[in-house]
Amino acid sequence: MSNTPVTEHHEVVVVGGGQAGLAIGYHLAQQGADFTILEAADRPAAAWRDRWDSLRLFTSARYDSLPGLAFPGEPDRYPTRDEVADYLTDYASRLDLPVELSSPVHAVRRENGGYRVELHDRAYEADQVVIATGPFQTPFVPALAERLPDHVVHLHSTAYRSPASLPEGRILVVGGGNTGFQIADELAGSHEVHLSIGSRQTPLPQRIAGRDLFWYLDRTGLLSKTTESRIGRRMSGRDTLIGSTPRGLRKRGVQTHGRTVDATGSTVRFDDGTQVDVDGVVWATGFRTDHSWIDVPVFDESGRPVHRRGVTESAGLYFLGLSWQHTRGSALLGWVKEDAEHIAREIASFQAREADPELIAGAS
Ligand SMILES: Cc1cc2nc3c(=O)[nH]c(=O)nc-3n(C[C@H](O)[C@H](O)[C@H](O)COP(=O)(O)OP(=O)(O)OC[C@H]3O[C@@H](n4cnc5c(N)ncnc54)[C@H](O)[C@@H]3O)c2cc1C
Repeated sequence: MSNTPVTEHHEVVVVGGGQAGLAIGYHLAQQGADFTILEAADRPAAAWRDRWDSLRLFTSARYDSLPGLAFPGEPDRYPTRDEVADYLTDYASRLDLPVELSSPVHAVRRENGGYRVELHDRAYEADQVVIATGPFQTPFVPALAERLPDHVVHLHSTAYRSPASLPEGRILVVGGGNTGFQIADELAGSHEVHLSIGSRQTPLPQRIAGRDLFWYLDRTGLLSKTTESRIGRRMSGRDTLIGSTPRGLRKRGVQTHGRTVDATGSTVRFDDGTQVDVDGVVWATGFRTDHSWIDVPVFDESGRPVHRRGVTESAGLYFLGLSWQHTRGSALLGWVKEDAEHIAREIASFQAREADPELIAGAS
């Protein structure tokens, strides 16, 4: 444990100032709680600003609002990356949320019945802590990337900005999710593109009969199916491809392959027996979560947080914004507010119990 002195005490410390951290911040402010939001990056909306230049949301503006402030503009359009970053920045400032930038948290531990939240230059004491550090944290690149020779430029999708990020010639995009499909589609305008699809995802159209896909998901109640329901369990195990299909991409000239299995020199091989000589590779191979800095026993043997709708067994410790934390919407802009509201209620009742345990015991 570090000896950094505790400089402040707060009822609640929120770790992470993305959409999840801001959404819980909104509710905490409404409740009049004493709280702060610690954000590692030196600017707001860092996760969105770090995504590729041409990114457009797959949720229309109608479904991109956090609590208390509507996403601006025409509701049926699909906002750009920069519009989301600007909206989140504006959100924090208009609602006057206490976001401390350049404040990466290195450790959260149990101390004196509450929590000690450690940064490199200071430590905070908190009665309750919300971990809102994002569903997509550490870029994952398969080990075979190390076998590629120096002259093959290869980067994770988080480092991809535009076709200019890559050399001329033949580019392999590895990963058959939304990111892989969208980057392959963009590169098809300027490069010979190959896409390696490890496991097929169910393609869903972006719009059906003039309406956005999420309108149907919402109206049919699919977005409120929880991980505890049978259909929710089935949906959470199956990723979906929104607005793209392998066929559509092939029409754009992209050649599709099976799972990437090996590389020798600049030749990459796939499990369908095909191979290709590449000049560049984009690893759209997803992320791993890293909660190793949270020194509280709330994880299973594979390091996943054990919780019920974000509430852990360690009193006063919560997660928010995890993928499928409660429903499909848990890690989406327009739906994170529902879990945020739930956690905010838990926080309020914890605070009330702490303030007057006898009153609460008497009432039950
Ligand atoms: C390519 C892509 C496209 C997407 N498109 C859509 C879409 O169209 N519509 C939609 O609704 N959703 C979309 N999502 C999903 C989701 O909305 C985003 O991933 C969103 O960024 C998640 O918000 P968050 O606040 O949970 O996490 P993040 O935005 O990742 O924010 C977490 C914050 O925590 C900070 N942090 C991390 N660790 C620490 C630490 N130890 N100490 C302090 N701060 C820390 C980070 O710097 C970051 O700012 C997309 C996701 C991706 C990857």
